[in-house]
Amino acid sequence: MKIRTAEPFKIKMVEPIHLISEADRNLRLKEAGYNPFSLRAEDVYIDLLTDSGTGAMSDHQWSAMMMGDESYAGSRSFYRLESVAKEITGCKYIIPTHQGRGAEQIMLPIFVKNPGDYVISNMHFDTTKAHVELAGARAINVIDAKAFDTDIYDDFKGNFDIALLKATIEEKGANQVALIIVTVTCNSAGGQPVSMANIKAVKKIADEYGIKVMLDAARYAENAYFIKMREAGYQDKTIKEICKEMFALSDGFMMSAKKDGLVNMGGLIGIREDEVLYTNARSLCVPLEGFPTYGGLSGRDMEALAVGLEEGTNYEYLDYRITQVAYLGDQLRAAGVPIQHPTGGHAVFVDCKKICPHIPYHAFPAQAVCNEVYLIAGIRAVEIGSFLLGRDPDTEEQLESPFEFMRLTIPRRTYTNRHMDVVADAVIATYQKADGLAGLSFEYEPKVLRHFTARLKPMI
Ligand SMILES: *Cc1c(COP(=O)(O)O)cnc(C)c1O
Repeated sequence: MKIRTAEPFKIKMVEPIHLISEADRNLRLKEAGYNPFSLRAEDVYIDLLTDSGTGAMSDHQWSAMMMGDESYAGSRSFYRLESVAKEITGCKYIIPTHQGRGAEQIMLPIFVKNPGDYVISNMHFDTTKAHVELAGARAINVIDAKAFDTDIYDDFKGNFDIALLKATIEEKGANQVALIIVTVTCNSAGGQPVSMANIKAVKKIADEYGIKVMLDAARYAENAYFIKMREAGYQDKTIKEICKEMFALSDGFMMSAKKDGLVNMGGLIGIREDEVLYTNARSLCVPLEGFPTYGGLSGRDMEALAVGLEEGTNYEYLDYRITQVAYLGDQLRAAGVPIQHPTGGHAVFVDCKKICPHIPYHAFPAQAVCNEVYLIAGIRAVEIGSFLLGRDPDTEEQLESPFEFMRLTIPRRTYTNRHMDVVADAVIATYQKADGLAGLSFEYEPKVLRHFTARLKPMI
């Protein structure tokens, strides 16, 4: 008989959660403009909105926080964080930021020299795309088309389409391509990993054309885990060895430390060796984020992150983490619910285009499914589809996303597999009544990053 494994931790402190009544859920969702982003967390039972900063810290992290050095300049905690980050990434220069978008707001204007430039990625994360556009450039995604077929199994659905990358550079002209961003794992395609071979191929092309490469490294450790498990030649390497090899294929990285960094708030910039790039980043950091040895973080935050970076690269932890996501995904698949297959690192992505073929992209099918999952069981998920994608910045037309996903994002070390069972029940129940769900239209639509604050209403 196979002996199952369990969460590699025991629970020292608990935070009570509560399922409010069905009548209250209906009322709260209506008040929230049919946009779960606007719900109060108190009114949510199991919160799978995001894995960003929602994880649990370890006892080691909490105790490290007591050692925070709150000096404005040259804090001991900065040097501790710098040393761990350098060891994992091999970067010569490390700058803390308050979170990932803090790193983006510093780096993108440095790379984008001319309005009308392009930034190419396998797939831009939404804040990354926003910062590309704020810097005056346009974001282009060149992910391999296999990512769009949720039924097809592939080990590395986050990979770049290398031929398309090359063709895009040729078409736009290499001097118009300000930067290539390798997003690991590829959040928007389902937390799907990018293979080392693919990153190598991207780097080779970038070098041929003289274009810089930055990693969007929010989930670098989860990506390294997938490389270890799936890519030939990496089985015997440690997670840290794989991380180092990944980072060595870039000119630096922007990192939201709220993911694999295992902290509630924080980010990092890493620059491999380019001193000019570092000097520019350091100068911009001062007015935007803070002095470069704290960058918006308190000393105790930097201590917690130093420990978090270590714990996040622990194999036993990563194995539990990825297995828990697959545990939820497997239950949904067994019940016939279409999901991005295989499951990725941080979330299960439910294919709502398939579940609600009667709702067109401009009426946001995945948003309708998210709302129902909340009404059924108080679970908060998030739409990753046309609602998130927004409008064409030139024509203001609603863009059609290649995906209409409901993302069930699993916070790290926070919920047990029993919580996953409840989520599976609720999603399966929603799936079984999906043809009765109605699409949504706008009641209020903000211009930038609208999915955080928009108000909608069901079209019934
Ligand atoms: C979360 C995330 C970001 C932005 O980071 P924040 O810490 O939320 O500002 C950027 N890229 C990816 C891939 C992310 O997942």
